[in-house]
Amino acid sequence: MSINLKKYKKLLAEFGSDIKLIAVSKTKPAEDIKAMYDLGQKDFGENYVQELVDKYEALPKDIQWHFIGHLQTNKVKYIAPFVSMIQSVDSKKLLAEINKQAKKNNRTIDCLIQVHIAIEESKFGFDEKELSELFENDLSTYANIKICGLMGMASFTYDTKKVRNEFKFLKSLFIKYASFSAPNSAFSILSMGMSSDYEIAVEEGSNMVRIGSLLFGERENKKT
Ligand SMILES: *Cc1c(COP(=O)(O)O)cnc(C)c1O
Repeated sequence: MSINLKKYKKLLAEFGSDIKLIAVSKTKPAEDIKAMYDLGQKDFGENYVQELVDKYEALPKDIQWHFIGHLQTNKVKYIAPFVSMIQSVDSKKLLAEINKQAKKNNRTIDCLIQVHIAIEESKFGFDEKELSELFENDLSTYANIKICGLMGMASFTYDTKKVRNEFKFLKSLFIKYASFSAPNSAFSILSMGMSSDYEIAVEEGSNMVRIGSLLFGERENKKT
């Protein structure tokens, strides 16, 4: 087992009840997830559809699975029966497909709209203009989707000022759209912050952080 128990406890104490911790378990084995589950962690984040389906089948059914990676429309059907929240809704096409599959499964799926805040990096998400178009439209057509808020990833850089500005920008959009209303939506979640930048994200108003490597150990990636 390779989970960092000390760090986990420290993060929980730091976040209290105001900030929800999503343990990002992508590429990590089911045993590590089970170990963290046994400590009381119920929310886990995954990036890959097949990996998520396998883990869902192998692990306790009261785990809340958050899909946080880029999701192809043709794969929505595999996770629609059980996924707790899709945080990475990055197009209207995807939103429509999630709605369709949720309906087929006779359920409502909680979603976050992913916003593209790391301008120079090719990350997925709505830009400011697309976001305003989305909220100008009649969202009640997505009857089986509950839009719960926004998600964003800052640039992967040591330039903390830049990271902070990107989070500030996302927070401003969150405030801007917080008052929008669709019959089935409840805009209350601002998901921002990962292992390397969660402290800045929290300072800038995040209420949901997605933390992987601090809890489960490093994966392969490098900062610029
Ligand atoms: C992998 C990933 C995370 C967690 O990254 P860490 O640096 O390991 O904390 C958070 N959010 C998204 C969208 C991810 O893909």
